[in-house]
Amino acid sequence: MTKDIIGTKKKGCLVIIGSGPVGMVSALMLKDHFDKVVLLERQSQESFLQKHGFTFPIVFTPASIKILEGIGAWKPLMQEKSEYYGVVIHKRMMGKELEFTVAKEGVYAHWRNHIIAKLYQRILDEEMQIHFDTNVEDIDFQNNFCKEERLGNIPFNLLLGADGMHSFTRRLMAKAHPKFTEKAFSIQLLDKWHTYRLPSRGLLRQKFDGGNRHLASHIYLDNLARYPADKFRIISTSMRQPNEEINILIKHDAQLDSQRVKALNAEFFGSYVDSIQQLNEEWDAGCSGKFEHVQTPTFHLNSVLLVGDAAHGFQSSGDLINLGITSVGSFCKILNKSRSIPEALQNYDETVGDSLRFYASYALRRGEGKAINEMVMFVIARKLGIVGDHPSLHSNFEEDFEIQTSMARYKKDLLKVKLLFYGIPTILLSLVGLIFMIGFLPQS
Ligand SMILES: Cc1cc2nc3c(=O)[nH]c(=O)nc-3n(C[C@H](O)[C@H](O)[C@H](O)COP(=O)(O)OP(=O)(O)OC[C@H]3O[C@@H](n4cnc5c(N)ncnc54)[C@H](O)[C@@H]3O)c2cc1C
Repeated sequence: MTKDIIGTKKKGCLVIIGSGPVGMVSALMLKDHFDKVVLLERQSQESFLQKHGFTFPIVFTPASIKILEGIGAWKPLMQEKSEYYGVVIHKRMMGKELEFTVAKEGVYAHWRNHIIAKLYQRILDEEMQIHFDTNVEDIDFQNNFCKEERLGNIPFNLLLGADGMHSFTRRLMAKAHPKFTEKAFSIQLLDKWHTYRLPSRGLLRQKFDGGNRHLASHIYLDNLARYPADKFRIISTSMRQPNEEINILIKHDAQLDSQRVKALNAEFFGSYVDSIQQLNEEWDAGCSGKFEHVQTPTFHLNSVLLVGDAAHGFQSSGDLINLGITSVGSFCKILNKSRSIPEALQNYDETVGDSLRFYASYALRRGEGKAINEMVMFVIARKLGIVGDHPSLHSNFEEDFEIQTSMARYKKDLLKVKLLFYGIPTILLSLVGLIFMIGFLPQS
């Protein structure tokens, strides 16, 4: 029997609401601590395993890979991967199309559907079960049980709310929490997106393929110059896709309605495809989503903890899944050292939780386009050797990523950057002002 947090035997029941990547990783990591693990999933099994179209390739950080290795999921995940060949970004600026290439050798990308399928297989291998089509009705935060329509009252020693961006657990926690209002546990819509596939033929292939799918694996077209009032961007990625397809991802303002985007899209792509009817059909078969930002003043209440997107979801940029997986890893470490589950939850919220909230506030500013100054200042300060490298600034986690150390270092460097760009100029200006004033003082 595996050691539990306080002694030598397992402890009670772990209930996980939501069986997305973070819910399943949590189950596989924490299973040895509990006698029983109950995984609840709102979707049907068919829909859970279904392919919902292409979105962004997921690049796991070394820290996530270590965790996935630990739960035996990395080897099967690596069976299907695509090399992250150069990223080619096309950006139109002042009427000119510029091209930037970012190479990431030795880095691999995976699609979400594949990750779901492989983690689910690990769940089955470990003889755990996911209850599909569930309907969680309520959580009793005082007496530690969760009420599900078919399963009735499920008692728990720990409940993880891993139910994604629109977390029902978070909503219930907001209502039950003595300190916080529902508004404080809110989500904010930043952008919307639509993704669909087109056959890679003729002009479309010439324009978006560059003749070499692997090198031109990610093509990004900034159309703001062409449609200044509409603010939408077209991103096309061919990573690990069949040669015959081109994946189109359109990201647009939250205010822009989808009919307008569809019309703009037809105008933009109409001339490259065989017929507008085909374009419409592909569009209708595509999948849409939203970039939303989650605000949570705390991640836990009594024996309930929010994890993954339910806790700290924000504008998707590849870092969400990694933050979800690594924060569960950090929770596991804290749990191992704690005397009780409530103590571990409190400790986690005050340490890792604080770092996650800090990063989320940065991500919100980035999502709203308000972090550009900060990013530029960091780049200059980095070139001057005043601050170190911060992969989290660009959602570029090639380095090992440990949220707490990384955010502590970021906060420290942010102070240096502010001193360099605001503090020193203010002191110099004050000195010049002082010298100027002294010059005007009557001479005795
Ligand atoms: C469709 C989709 C595509 C994505 N594509 C990418 C991508 O390409 N690249 C990338 O980096 N990130 C992507 N993301 C984001 C990324 O998958 C998440 O950041 C990451 O999976 C976090 O995982 P999670 O388990 O916290 O949340 P989720 O992946 O959202 O999983 C939550 C799970 O909980 C279930 N659930 C919700 N409510 C309830 C309830 N009341 N009761 C029971 N179950 C419930 C949901 O059905 C879902 O299975 C995508 C997210 C989604 C939803």
